[in-house]
Amino acid sequence: VAGNRVDGGQTIVADPGRAVGALARMAEIVGPAHAIADSDRQLPYLRELRGLYAGSAALVLRPGSTREVAQILAVAHEAGIGIVPQGGNTGLVGGQTPSPDGRQVVLSLSRLNSVREVDAAGETMIVEAGVTLAAAQAAAERAERLFPLSLPSEGSCQIGGVLATNAGGVGVLAYGNARALTLGLEVVTADGQVWDGLRTLKKDNTGYDLRDLFVGSEGTLGIITAAALKLFPRPAEKVVALAALPDIASVAALFRLAEARGHAGLTAFEFMSRFTLDLVSKHIPNTRLPLREPAPWYVLIELSSAEPGGLAEATMQRLLTEAADNGIVSDAVIAASLAQSQALWRLRETASEAQRPEGGSVKHDVSVPVARIPDFLAAASKAVDAACPGARPVVFGHFGDGNVHYNVTQPVGMDKAAYLALWGPMSEAVHDVVASLGGSISAEHGIGQMKRGELLRFKSPLEIALMRKIKAALDPKGILNPGKVL
Ligand SMILES: Cc1cc2nc3c(=O)[nH]c(=O)nc-3n(C[C@H](O)[C@H](O)[C@H](O)COP(=O)(O)OP(=O)(O)OC[C@H]3O[C@@H](n4cnc5c(N)ncnc54)[C@H](O)[C@@H]3O)c2cc1C
Repeated sequence: VAGNRVDGGQTIVADPGRAVGALARMAEIVGPAHAIADSDRQLPYLRELRGLYAGSAALVLRPGSTREVAQILAVAHEAGIGIVPQGGNTGLVGGQTPSPDGRQVVLSLSRLNSVREVDAAGETMIVEAGVTLAAAQAAAERAERLFPLSLPSEGSCQIGGVLATNAGGVGVLAYGNARALTLGLEVVTADGQVWDGLRTLKKDNTGYDLRDLFVGSEGTLGIITAAALKLFPRPAEKVVALAALPDIASVAALFRLAEARGHAGLTAFEFMSRFTLDLVSKHIPNTRLPLREPAPWYVLIELSSAEPGGLAEATMQRLLTEAADNGIVSDAVIAASLAQSQALWRLRETASEAQRPEGGSVKHDVSVPVARIPDFLAAASKAVDAACPGARPVVFGHFGDGNVHYNVTQPVGMDKAAYLALWGPMSEAVHDVVASLGGSISAEHGIGQMKRGELLRFKSPLEIALMRKIKAALDPKGILNPGKVL
């Protein structure tokens, strides 16, 4: 349709009559049970769980096959209708939420939920986009293999969303992020063609890597309908410990020691500030800090071993003893059962949730070179205090990835709305610190709507221009997730 353009995230259809016809055709493709026009039934697809982003949609479509996705895209392309792909709707940057103008169509991939193939010997599996991360892990487990990606949202988030955001989580240190775990993809292009790139090869140097381009593209370059994923042998043993540390320099020292002693067996190294665990103990039921004295910093360490026989536990004992002897660790506890391991992990996994009862939180998912984390924390704390005196940083994250979740909770007694109004200036100040240390303003959650403006501040004009050229080549009419990323 001549005259369609993408403007501030809204796909503007030149001919509204034609759009109505196109919407009817899309509804026919999925059938009446899976084309949702009723606003009450649409609601779960229109807002994300924190209520930070909400939109409106002309239709919510729930296709049941790659073919139906391709047919929908062909119609949308012809009519210039914006398509917002959605998986589990757990994204944290508003990428899966349609614009408020009610013209876009939400495309939920959740019915594409088959595990197509698990090749235990070849250590690969092919799953569809709507398979939840937990179901993908379970499919690997049934074949006595490990799919190591693990996020607190794994019960709801889906492989399509996980790949589209290049999700990270707690296993990145040992196994890499979603991109590193993806061997191949099946993608529906903006004009409704199906690219079958479901290769399970470990090596493939045949030209430009389209797979790596679609992973992390947040629904703006194509719709992921299935993926070939890497599997690993399951560890025979895992041991989890929680250590208390006197300062952030000791956290860095313990990380270096854990890498040296644990080698490839170091499968998690998560750090949390004292205030973070104070909030967890205060607000999350059935959590308890199993250490004698409070400390400024805590680290959750997981060591895994391919062999049974207590190797991981012995290594952990030695590591913590050496750290205590060196004054790096003031106290530590090693989980003696699965229940105790789960209880320690719960302290880390509920860190974000524990902030909610304290009022507003301005959240940052940033990364810096690992060695610069202490510098980042010192400078960010000053910047935050200048932007809002009394604001309380809740610091935790994946230390070994240089990934800090720097979430700043409002001062006690301050009005929540007044605090959240400071989101822009406070984030800009924190992002300036990140940039000054050679870091990234989005370590694992993506850009979505939230960081679109900030992206322009930190990427060079050339990098933005190249990204725009790629977008224009793959989605010339701008129908794929308009208003996100760029
Ligand atoms: C409690 C909690 C903890 C979290 N912890 C982490 C964490 O540790 N690490 C981390 O990286 N993230 C984390 N997240 C963020 C989120 O879970 C991940 O980004 C997840 O990967 C999103 O998956 P989803 O299926 O919910 O995607 P959605 O939220 O539905 O979509 C996310 C983005 O992907 C696009 N998209 C979805 N499906 C497709 C598809 N099939 N094809 C193309 N584009 C698609 C959407 O348009 C959107 O831009 C967390 C979220 C919550 C709520």
